[in-house]
Amino acid sequence: MKVLVINCGSSSLKYQLFDMDNKSVLAKGLVERIGLNEGMLKHTPAGKDKVEISDNIPNHKVAVKMMLDALLDENHGVLKSISEISAVGHRVVHGGEKFSGSVRITDEVMNVLKECVELAPLHNPPNIVGIEAARELLPDVPMVGVFDTAFHQTMPNYAYIYGVPYELYEKYGVRRYGFHGTSHRFVSAEAAKMLNKPIEETKLVTLHLGNGSSISAVKNGKSIDNSMGFTPLEGILMGTRSGNIDPAIVPFIMEKEGLSTDEMNNYLNKKCGVYGVSGVSSDFRDLEDAANNGNNRAQLALQIFAYQAKKFIGSYVAAMNGLDAIVFTGGIGENSSTTRKMICEDMEFFGIKIDEEKNQVRGKQADISAEAAKTKVLVIPTNEELMIAMDTVALI
Ligand code: ADP
Repeated sequence: MKVLVINCGSSSLKYQLFDMDNKSVLAKGLVERIGLNEGMLKHTPAGKDKVEISDNIPNHKVAVKMMLDALLDENHGVLKSISEISAVGHRVVHGGEKFSGSVRITDEVMNVLKECVELAPLHNPPNIVGIEAARELLPDVPMVGVFDTAFHQTMPNYAYIYGVPYELYEKYGVRRYGFHGTSHRFVSAEAAKMLNKPIEETKLVTLHLGNGSSISAVKNGKSIDNSMGFTPLEGILMGTRSGNIDPAIVPFIMEKEGLSTDEMNNYLNKKCGVYGVSGVSSDFRDLEDAANNGNNRAQLALQIFAYQAKKFIGSYVAAMNGLDAIVFTGGIGENSSTTRKMICEDMEFFGIKIDEEKNQVRGKQADISAEAAKTKVLVIPTNEELMIAMDTVALI
């Protein structure tokens, strides 16, 4: 069975076509600069070179059409007929409280998705446009929506209600939702396999560290807390996002710098984080290079990141009353031995100690804990696309 996974952003569309019989990727690609000038499709059939096609891509429907054409192309395609696609799985950022799991997409579901736009005004509209375009071009193919927030719907109310008037939750849905749920769910399941334990008997802290970073407490296979909140701005500082700050800083900066609400929102999302602290870059490779060359602010940014991650681990151990393993994933978690080392340093109290040599691993599953360590430290590359494809198969 072949399943297409689509992840639509405001100006981009990422896709992967899976053969679910052996869970292999037949082709993957990216359409960039949708709605801007000089659009581009980058398509990579498994085991072959990447093909790049530039064209004017005015909207997502044209992008979906280009993707389908690429998949069917005589030379670099991997399908003979469009009917080979059994189902499509779509990534959707925000499912609000309406979706606690993946769903088969219907007209009714589309209406509910539109109701969730208010909660994710930047992310959900392109997701919806992508689904609509795919439904139009593949009218007979069943489709499934997989939500970043769904895995966290098991959080107890005392973890998701903020200390603001309760009416704000009732009127506007102001609460913690948590994000990267598909990734936290995928790596938790993999971690249980690596620990050789039923997932229902595990206590895990999963750290998805990338341009956006979130940390989850996963108890007995269920998310009970996530560092991201009402939006993906909360939690540890990230590439360019501030993460947790004293809320009083917001009106203070707005007044001092004369910023509007939109400008302030943009400031917190784009100008802060390790980029804002270091003044160097949001990319951890650049920061590590700069720190190694004696740049103190780059070093400070890395230290803040590790310290904040460490504090989340501690608080989640308290929340779960125990810990079997911590799991590193995402671009930084999978690749940066420096960051993993900084986070795991001086954590013997929690039974955490890594093996320096094993920690040199990059981008593959590994147990990097020291021999006698009570708590496992695991590196698990995430695979949100495969998780979406698996949910899609399960639902159709
Ligand atoms: P996104 O959140 O956009 O999906 P990723 O999970 O791909 O991001 O993570 C991207 C980040 O991973 C980059 O900004 C970079 O900081 C980090 N990264 C990737 N490779 C390395 C590496 N070898 N060493 C350190 N950091 C890395």
